Amino acid sequence: MKRQRILVTGGAGFLGSNLCRELLGQGNEVHCLDNLATGTMHNISPLLGDPAFQFVEHDVTTPMVLDVDRIYNLACPASPRHYQADPIRTLKTSVVGALNILDLAAQKNVPVLQASTSEVYGDPEVHPQSEDYWGHVNPIGPRSCYDEGKRAAETLFFDYHRQRGVDIRIARIFNTYGPHMHPNDGRVVANFIIQALQNKPITLYGDGSQTRSFCYVDDLIAGLMALMDKGAGLGAVNLGNPAELPVRELAEIVIELTNSRSPIIHMPLPIDDPRQRCPDIEKARKTLNWTPRVTLEEGLRHTIQYFDAAISAKRHV
Ligand code: NAD
Ligand code: UDP
Repeated sequence: MKRQRILVTGGAGFLGSNLCRELLGQGNEVHCLDNLATGTMHNISPLLGDPAFQFVEHDVTTPMVLDVDRIYNLACPASPRHYQADPIRTLKTSVVGALNILDLAAQKNVPVLQASTSEVYGDPEVHPQSEDYWGHVNPIGPRSCYDEGKRAAETLFFDYHRQRGVDIRIARIFNTYGPHMHPNDGRVVANFIIQALQNKPITLYGDGSQTRSFCYVDDLIAGLMALMDKGAGLGAVNLGNPAELPVRELAEIVIELTNSRSPIIHMPLPIDDPRQRCPDIEKARKTLNWTPRVTLEEGLRHTIQYFDAAISAKRHV
């Protein structure tokens, strides 16, 4: 395929930095734009020496002009700890960021992919969640800045498509984990592994019966790239691993894989924490010929290795 000039917003974050590396590996020119709110230079330091890679420190809430052929819009804190720290800024990033990115896509007449989320389904009453489910979302709770911000961004993407003919793709990403997650990210896989490696108590919120389905990062990135390549006219597409398990079981697996002496302690379940979550990925299977391949055990082993090195380098404090 022809070498493309690709903009990745949020490119210094967990998913963004993995995506930048893959796009570069395919011979593209990558413009990584990030305000370093939750992303780090450490994530992209191996890419900085490549002449086809360019880092631009910029906030998506300010308009931008760049000559590119494709855009992946990933800029937004994704961990509840981080997106709830400054909820107004989170909502602004989702909504004003989407407006600015869509204006750029319209002006350059290029395809644009939005990193949306399973959170658009809220605390779902339909299980597993397929793309035609409209969700069950609290508009005024502590998670709303993220959930409603992402829902409004989806609305903007569809309205720019209908009103201005912008070529859009929407990935509804379910819980993803792997190398380049920030050690202080606060999401469950990062927390459990860091705690287990240090033999500190594993913080299980609630009784741990709430379920999630965890996708390894390499699978997710392959899905995003397939959606960009083949996703014209598809609408929203779920990307995630449908292997669902209670969070308590995740804690037990992490303890076993790290040979940890950590006890499990219970902490209060956060407000509006979804009881269950599992993607229906039939649409992605059929239209993108995509399916996740990495098992939870294999993915956790890679992630444990990564966090072990982060602890040794003292990047976890
Ligand atoms: P992350 O926090 O590691 O990365 C987000 C990146 O966006 C960071 O580098 C951050 O500095 C940057 N950013 C935040 N606000 C910005 C702004 N205003 N301007 C420019 N850059 C900004 O999170 P992630 O897990 O890599 O998530 C990436 C995207 O994928 C997010 O949009 C997130 O909502 C979505 N997503 C991720 C998951 C997941 O499980 N990882 C699940 C659903 C959706
Ligand atoms: N969780 C937990 N302990 C932690 C962090 C999270 O038990 O230290 C739980 C959290 O309550 C939720 C699930 O793990 O039920 C996934 O949380 P995460 O913050 O990773 O993402 P979410 O899916 O809630 O956006």
